[in-house]
Amino acid sequence: MANVRELLGRLNQQTIRYDVGRGGIAELTNQDIAAALAFVEPGLGRELLEACWWPDGAALRRKQLRDQVLALVQPELRRQCRALEEARIDVGIAKACIGWGGAATAEQARELERATARLERAAAECWPRTTLESLPTLAQAVIREIAHPNLCSDCEGRGHRVAGELVVACIACSGHGITPMSDRKRAAAIGRDESTYRQTWRGVYQWLLVRMRDAESQAAAQLAAALSRAA
Ligand SMILES: [Zn+2]
Repeated sequence: MANVRELLGRLNQQTIRYDVGRGGIAELTNQDIAAALAFVEPGLGRELLEACWWPDGAALRRKQLRDQVLALVQPELRRQCRALEEARIDVGIAKACIGWGGAATAEQARELERATARLERAAAECWPRTTLESLPTLAQAVIREIAHPNLCSDCEGRGHRVAGELVVACIACSGHGITPMSDRKRAAAIGRDESTYRQTWRGVYQWLLVRMRDAESQAAAQLAAALSRAA
């Protein structure tokens, strides 16, 4: 199967020839590809597939992409808020127990310590306050990274290497074919300096990247399956 992403990128051409394996060449028209796209489950993955590989099509679907990205982050933002609030209440309760009268017991002191540590952890795990305002920039940067991945230099993006008569998984990239983009590049892509990126934005960027890349991969696999049925 040819790379379905490349295929999608060539959607403006009238007829596309691509190798279907076993030496066969199929002629695919725009209608074939559009029809196959309809078999890709609607949702984040499909919007990303178009945003990454068929920008002309995605330009008409900005609102859908926005809604899907918002739907992705909303539960996580709410979870973080709840976790922070609950941790604050736990610290308050631990303090109230101590302040109720009489000397604080060792157990009460330990409970306050534990609750304070939980609060610090919850606060550290929270995304920046301005995450929602920065979401369009973050999403664009993530989409660019998915569409222009850093190909592994050891295996040139193949994920495997030929050693003698054996095909072995590439050690440098663990067989993925791509290596992570540097913090410096990611920081530049979202208009921050590297230390601010590391301190503040890395968590949310990586969270988005993992989920958006997975969604895009699943959609690409569905498109590939639909195209091989059409061929
Ligand atoms: Zn590699």
